[in-house]
Amino acid sequence: MSLKLNEVFESIQGEGAYTGVPSIFVRLQGCPVGCPWCDTQHTWSVDLEDKRSEQQVMKESGDSRHWFSSDAEQLMALFKRQGYQARHVVLTGGEPAMYDLRDLTQTLHQHGFSTQIETSGTFELQISPETWVTLSPKVDMKGGYPVLDSVLAVAHEIKHPVAMERHVEELKALLARPATNLDALVYLQPISQQKRATELAIRTCIAENWRLSLQTHKFIGIE
Ligand code: SF4
Repeated sequence: MSLKLNEVFESIQGEGAYTGVPSIFVRLQGCPVGCPWCDTQHTWSVDLEDKRSEQQVMKESGDSRHWFSSDAEQLMALFKRQGYQARHVVLTGGEPAMYDLRDLTQTLHQHGFSTQIETSGTFELQISPETWVTLSPKVDMKGGYPVLDSVLAVAHEIKHPVAMERHVEELKALLARPATNLDALVYLQPISQQKRATELAIRTCIAENWRLSLQTHKFIGIE
């Protein structure tokens, strides 16, 4: 399957269980979920007029709507040309689960990479069983997509964005669903580093024995 890629870059994973791990980020174009605080709104639309060459997209800054087409082997070749050293690949977006990622994730594993998908849980996952699933559930967003039981069942970590008490209740309702993987690590992540959100997250993590996830890459000024 041809993938539409908005961005490919090497950095450090800043969130959740893989925090601190050198990673290659592969950002896929397209997301209809509609979160109001989304910090990657440039990835929402997939317009043919925004299609560019791989070389051009790789030269652009991170907030462009441009994308390029690639398959798994072409992406492996790009990693090599870029000289990337990281052995962990994060598939993010946009909403990467809109794509069939079985070929890509299997190819990455064959080349010795570990893989992780960051998803809102609103699309059926099409990935290798070895891929680490980071579910950042987006509940009652404008797009009207429900969080799927099938994704709750395979999530390795559930990383919930939180700014107010209502978000904590949303997470509790998701965790109470019979399908949810009870072994999943549970994280609260304050939305946009807001002070009140961070205080709420800290308080709630202590009370519920959940974990705190900070977007550490934003604190240290890396992408
Ligand atoms: S699911 Fe992710 S990319 Fe899509 S709107 Fe929400 S935060 Fe943005």
